[in-house]
Amino acid sequence: MIIVVKKNCEEKQLDNLIKWVKSQGLGVDVSRGDHSIVLGLIGDTPKVDIDLVRSMDIVENVKRIQEPFKSANRKFHPDDTIVDVGGHKFGGENFQIIAGPCSVESEKQIIEVAKAVKASGANLLRGGAFKPRTSPYAFQGLKAGGLELLKLAKKETGMPIVTEIMSVAHIDLFEDVDMVQIGARNMQNFELLKAVGKLNKPVLLKRGLANTIEEWLMSAEYIMSEGNRQVVLCERGIRTFEPMTRNTLDLSAIPLLKEKTHLPVIVDPSHASGLSRLVKPLSLAAVGAGADGLMIEVHNDPANALCDGAQSLRPEQFDEVVKATDVMLPLVNKKRV
Ligand code: PEP
Ligand code: MN
Repeated sequence: MIIVVKKNCEEKQLDNLIKWVKSQGLGVDVSRGDHSIVLGLIGDTPKVDIDLVRSMDIVENVKRIQEPFKSANRKFHPDDTIVDVGGHKFGGENFQIIAGPCSVESEKQIIEVAKAVKASGANLLRGGAFKPRTSPYAFQGLKAGGLELLKLAKKETGMPIVTEIMSVAHIDLFEDVDMVQIGARNMQNFELLKAVGKLNKPVLLKRGLANTIEEWLMSAEYIMSEGNRQVVLCERGIRTFEPMTRNTLDLSAIPLLKEKTHLPVIVDPSHASGLSRLVKPLSLAAVGAGADGLMIEVHNDPANALCDGAQSLRPEQFDEVVKATDVMLPLVNKKRV
């Protein structure tokens, strides 16, 4: 971290600032130029409250030169992390597809969809049992019963299951879930992040509705700092001023994340757009941008879905998306495995 001190500061103020920096357990390198004084902070600078420093009277400018995330940082872990979910690998050259309905609705629905998406090439089955809905009057999911139906679908098809956890209180119910999803609305539920960080289980961490890439990586850091390094990031669109789509898919996040972190990054084009007809073009764009996989909502009867029917593909539409992505994968040196 670098602090630029105001030109006409008093020596006493500068001394006080240097003392304060040292009291934070950091070293300081002072360089005096003709026009300004620059302090270079040495040590564990991610701990420093940058806003507090910025608010000090004698501070002209302050800049981090080291990112505040460590475990997730590619600088300290240059190789791609490979996250294995029930034998299916995320990261490196692997391309994975997670598919299934927004919500688990019935045994017939989840098993029918699971069989269909597996036949098309999805390796992992998604389905919400605990649903984060904007309205308390909307379908809230089948909860523990939904988890049981997912397990049944896994037994029928052999597909590992991915489903969202909404509360620390439910953690024991998720024992047989292969990959726990932290939804957009909980990306900064730090107690939940710490709790899944204590599990020995892969975590799918979705980007918050209005969160920066750095905030997202800090959330990954919360999980990893508790010991769980099996984190896959999922870009699902962010809130912008554009009302024609549910969210705006931030495609630049993918190559940027690939620079900044070693964690796998997948894309959810369903929640990003809210429109089933945009799922195919956005899936192809995600492949082109270097994503490690996709998570796509598929329903056997979208018109009557209890949640997110407008963005859900019918199985035959999903099949088309998989075929189209397969054509593109060699261009980005990835393989669907
Ligand atoms: C979901 O994947 O079911 C979901 C609720 O998505 P998000 O958290 O991205 O809105
Ligand atoms: Mn949904």
